[in-house]
Amino acid sequence: MKRRVILLGPPGSGKGTVAACLEKQFGWPHVSSGYLFRQEVGKNSPLGQLAKTFIENGKLVPDEVVLQLMEHWWDGTDSAAGFILDGFPRNVPQAMKLDSWLTARGVALDVVICLKAPENEIIRRVAGRRSCPRCGRVFQIPDMPPHTEGICDDCGGELTQRADDRESVLRERFEIYRRETEPLVNYYRHQGKLVLVDAMQPVDQRCAAAADALK
Ligand SMILES: [Zn+2]
Repeated sequence: MKRRVILLGPPGSGKGTVAACLEKQFGWPHVSSGYLFRQEVGKNSPLGQLAKTFIENGKLVPDEVVLQLMEHWWDGTDSAAGFILDGFPRNVPQAMKLDSWLTARGVALDVVICLKAPENEIIRRVAGRRSCPRCGRVFQIPDMPPHTEGICDDCGGELTQRADDRESVLRERFEIYRRETEPLVNYYRHQGKLVLVDAMQPVDQRCAAAADALK
């Protein structure tokens, strides 16, 4: 069974949804760098304050800040138990850093799942994304709506649209993805770890295709 998993894909390709499916099915924890950052921002920690200005404007959080956050995660992680990483690594230098952490523990990544989707289709989908500020759960209209419109199923919190889901911000994140993250696809292809999954299929099929890649 493949336990150390990375999810790649452009913003809004549904990485979080797929990660949640995999976590539920297999049990290894879903680790989202975006969520970790929002937690730090919520706590108003020095790292959170530093990251906040970048995140709110949809800008690239600099590598040294990302690595500081993720190294803290890595220190507390049981790499034998596995993980599903989403949002990290975001570029080749970050991937090389992660490889060095793995090598130092004598373990390796098992699989890198890349979600593929056209930009305009993703923009439409992201416009329907609503998240719960209280517990962090994300809903998707029309794919995965809450039972009651505007209300979180889990905690009853009022759902909001994240500032970085606005279209102008999203277009800029796409540009960043093309420049920074797409080279990662080749990086992991050369390592023989890449599995492509069509992000435009219905959510059940998307999750099933990703789950197959872990078997
Ligand atoms: Zn909630």
